[in-house]
Amino acid sequence: MFENEERTNIESLGEFGLIDYLTKNIKLTQPSTIKGVGDDAAVLNFENKKVLISTDMLLEGIHFDLAYTPLKHLGYKSIQVNLSDIYAMNGIASQVTVSIGMSSKFPLEAVEEFYEGVYLACEKYNVDLIGGDTSASKQGLVISVTSIGYADEKDVVYRNGAEEGDLICVSGDLGGAYTGLQLLEREKLIYLENPNIQPDLEGKDYIVERQLKPEARKDIIDLLKEIEVKPTAMIDVSDGLASELLHICRQSNKGCSLYEEKIPLDPMTFETAREFNLDPTVCALSGGEDYELLFTVKQADYDKIKFKMDITIIGYITEPSAGCNLVTKAGNVHALTAQGWNAFKSNG
Ligand code: ADP
Ligand code: MG
Repeated sequence: MFENEERTNIESLGEFGLIDYLTKNIKLTQPSTIKGVGDDAAVLNFENKKVLISTDMLLEGIHFDLAYTPLKHLGYKSIQVNLSDIYAMNGIASQVTVSIGMSSKFPLEAVEEFYEGVYLACEKYNVDLIGGDTSASKQGLVISVTSIGYADEKDVVYRNGAEEGDLICVSGDLGGAYTGLQLLEREKLIYLENPNIQPDLEGKDYIVERQLKPEARKDIIDLLKEIEVKPTAMIDVSDGLASELLHICRQSNKGCSLYEEKIPLDPMTFETAREFNLDPTVCALSGGEDYELLFTVKQADYDKIKFKMDITIIGYITEPSAGCNLVTKAGNVHALTAQGWNAFKSNG
């Protein structure tokens, strides 16, 4: 789906013409970027910092559906999901590379729209686009982004540092991206059955944006620095709260108690989940793509954290033999699983 009416054939530009066209306006802003696009490799200089590198691939039909994903949003999201991994290490993101494989039928205007989103995200988060690769694809649109960042060694936060008694915190709210996706999928089916019916997403902007245009939580990393809290462990929520918390617990060799009533849900997420006969808690636990930060902090940091608007304490870390548990609103204790929790799976 692209909005521009004009269609310029990519083949008329050729590969080099296309790359040049897409990258000619790049303005490098990072002091660590010595050489960006234009040579066989980019050249970076991080002096005495530790360098962080992360890659993610986005495939049409697996990770996105062009039927309801505007290309500008897709470009923006491709960058966000990658920057999120750098922030989850408590790092500062500084460069990205963007590689794309696309059908030769893809018009230039469509690629341009995608790059508008890429550049918007780069500008907003202050990262340089320093390279990539461009190829034809017979299997739909393929996007691969690599993000590069840096941190002082003492600031890097791993998944494995959680200690017994640490508080489990999460930024923002959860489950929105998943309920947004349910909505978009429903409207797509309605449209396919009757193309005269316009999609009805009235009043659902928040969760639709959570799905199509997520924001990596650089602001949370900045906030933690400002209040001088270094998390003991951290991960970004790409696969759902349950799965991410289990990663922290497994890698830290600890257990946890997570409180259902504490899980932050936006009212629109709650309402929409109900509309779809979904349990809102399960949407948060298993939905994914929220790109919030899940982290643990020492109890001594409680006073610094407790009144922070966009951070919620949702549980605490326990000894490993206690297991990883969800305490439900009714006060029942269930083993947490990557799919949500056992009771939901077995009781249907
Ligand atoms: P090579 O033949 O060495 O792979 P390319 O012709 O693919 O070189 O790329 C030339 C330059 O353009 C390189 O600096 C590369 O990083 C950059 N580049 C290629 N494709 C893209 C893209 N899709 N986005 C940004 N930069 C790109
Ligand atoms: Mg190349």
